[in-house]
Amino acid sequence: MLYQSENIQADWVKQGIVELIFNAKGSINKLDTKTVAMLSEALTVLEATPGLKGVILRSEKPAFIVGADITEFLSLFDAPEEELTQWLHFSNQIFSRLEDLPVPTVSAINGYALGGGCECVLATDFRISSPDLRIGLPETKLGIMPGFGGSVRLPRLIGVDNALEIITAGKDVDAQTALKNGLTQAIVPLENLKESAISLIEQAIEGKIDWKAARHPKTTPLRLTELEHKMSFSVAKGMVMKVAGPHYPAPITAVKTIEKAAFLNRDEALAIETENFVKLTRTDVAKALVGIFLNDQYVKNITKKRHAELPKQAAVLGAGIMGGGISYQSALKGIPVVMKDINQKSLELGMNEALSLLQKRQEKGRMSAVDMAKTLASIQPTLNYASVSDADVVVEAVVENPKVKATVLAETEALLTDHAVLASNTSTIPISLLAKSLKRPENFCGMHFFNPVHRMPLVEIIKGEKTSEETINRIVSYASKMGKTPIIVNDCPGFFVNRVLFPYFAGFSLLLRDGADFLAVDKVMEKVFGWPMGPAYLLDVVGIDTANHAQAVMAQGFPDRMGTIERDAIALLYEQQRYGQKNNHGFYNYTVDKRGKKQKSVDGQIQTLIQQNAGKTQEFSQDVIIARMMIPMINEVIRCLDEGIIASPAEADIALVYGLGFPPFRGGVFRYLDTIGLAQFVADAQQYASLGSLYQIPESLKQKAQRNETYYP
Ligand code: NAD
Repeated sequence: MLYQSENIQADWVKQGIVELIFNAKGSINKLDTKTVAMLSEALTVLEATPGLKGVILRSEKPAFIVGADITEFLSLFDAPEEELTQWLHFSNQIFSRLEDLPVPTVSAINGYALGGGCECVLATDFRISSPDLRIGLPETKLGIMPGFGGSVRLPRLIGVDNALEIITAGKDVDAQTALKNGLTQAIVPLENLKESAISLIEQAIEGKIDWKAARHPKTTPLRLTELEHKMSFSVAKGMVMKVAGPHYPAPITAVKTIEKAAFLNRDEALAIETENFVKLTRTDVAKALVGIFLNDQYVKNITKKRHAELPKQAAVLGAGIMGGGISYQSALKGIPVVMKDINQKSLELGMNEALSLLQKRQEKGRMSAVDMAKTLASIQPTLNYASVSDADVVVEAVVENPKVKATVLAETEALLTDHAVLASNTSTIPISLLAKSLKRPENFCGMHFFNPVHRMPLVEIIKGEKTSEETINRIVSYASKMGKTPIIVNDCPGFFVNRVLFPYFAGFSLLLRDGADFLAVDKVMEKVFGWPMGPAYLLDVVGIDTANHAQAVMAQGFPDRMGTIERDAIALLYEQQRYGQKNNHGFYNYTVDKRGKKQKSVDGQIQTLIQQNAGKTQEFSQDVIIARMMIPMINEVIRCLDEGIIASPAEADIALVYGLGFPPFRGGVFRYLDTIGLAQFVADAQQYASLGSLYQIPESLKQKAQRNETYYP
């Protein structure tokens, strides 16, 4: 053995040829700071090894290298600029040393080569892969950009346009695409990968393949004319600004980095990459996006620990918007489902929706016709209650009426075995209240999906007073099997997500009552704060009737804060039977475009009606609109943490981002508070105290601010 460490080994594989093997002890292969240092040691040995003629990089794990260790990111981001720059310089020197070895080098890549893993293989002369390759640079998704030479070597290898596409979208490509765009030179079966790498190196050693020619472009300026340079980068900048928008600085910084370094050689280009990488690590956006990644990992770990028996047969009660979506998702992920309704028309609508979603998957090449037919056949529509009796998990998604739900749940329970679990998709009704109609309340919990089910990643799992841990575990595992992110919450009206959403809507009603223009509020909340939809638009999508009804449930649950608002615009629209998108009239009017999508337009009449209702018009600044909209939501999020409705800031922030579309670049309410500073938030929010109970800052937040603490470490 030439070199042996915890994560990397190097040894002769054939005369003159050394293989450098990534084989992390007790973990997947990552390029954490420790492994980077080991790579440096291994190279020092190779540089001094007499008789070395060629080097192969490969992995002993199912994935080559999954990337950097993201758990290390936040502390790296906090390191002084100077220190981070030095570390990047040190790491880049290692990859350049690998690139500059006086012998041919090849990476034999299996599975993932992402981020730092991709950058590592870019430093070798050749890359061959097994068919399961996923290679790419996802850094911009985390608010940063490649920092180990990716922005320098990738465009020099596969051309500016291809490289920009991968880097700015933070995407990875499969083996075929990598081969097509010149990122790899061959695809070979996994079992032949090592032998093929040896054979390639032998040919390079024998001079049959010109390895120096393969290496040369990576160390020299991009081969572009001035005109090509101008064209490529101006088009890319326009595209990136359109797609990423102004809140996400990483993709555009990556474009500008590659542009600036285009006519420079490798080492000068690397210096520019380092400089811009460091700048991005100083942004709140990078901290927020990395924070979401880490919170997601945290939630996944909780889910993993709760792994339990999966249903062999599921049933869904109600084939409406939600029931249809839940049935489709269950079938898609391999759990057959009985879909029960009392209305034949609903069943037909539910099946048609499932068919149309499956057809779209097939058209996009994500599913074969055979699998499509099989999936559709695994949804069994029925009007007959008895068909539900074989299910080991039943999700109730009938109308949001406690009496109807209580009857349906009790009737269903009587048909099921003692082992079966029941879950309700209610959006607001407390689970412990619904459990009163059941004989086995321990087998019952909430399973709150979001609309549209196939697209929204969050499912709230609600623990009633009597729900057993086993029931929670089984529903968590089912949600996870359905490809969703389950968050476990405690019971109360609205649970976590709707409990914090309705105070936000109340903030909106109060603004309109005080004479604000709803168009101006929507614009600020979308364009400046970054929500995917402003509150008026969101209410139209949720349904004004649904929101009005839910608002009443919340008012009953929290009368001191969420009681009826005088001259409430939501109630006004409801009285006018403007139910939003479902009847094409709400705050906006809707028409269906050629692609079947609802397009909104402004109705001057409704603006006047809302203003007359308020009795005045008033202009509010952006800051006031944001404060008046966000303070009620933020306060309620804090109350939910204080009361144990949600267990941790990490879970709360994931629920907000995945369930409501809270702007990812802000990371969630707790990350947002940490970013602006708790004391600053308290000082700002206190100015709005006269607006009522929704604007009273919880004591725990005030105290935390006084102690100068943060929610995240
Ligand atoms: P919907 O009106 O589209 O569908 C309800 C379906 O239940 C109808 O097809 C109806 O025929 C059927 N139904 C009524 N009584 C029944 C019974 N006794 N047995 C079987 N089926 C019966 O409603 P939806 O929007 O799908 O909402 C269903 C549930 O999901 C509600 O509790 C709602 O609060 C909740 N929810 C809705 C949303 C949403 O955005 N729409 C989001 C999360 C949760």
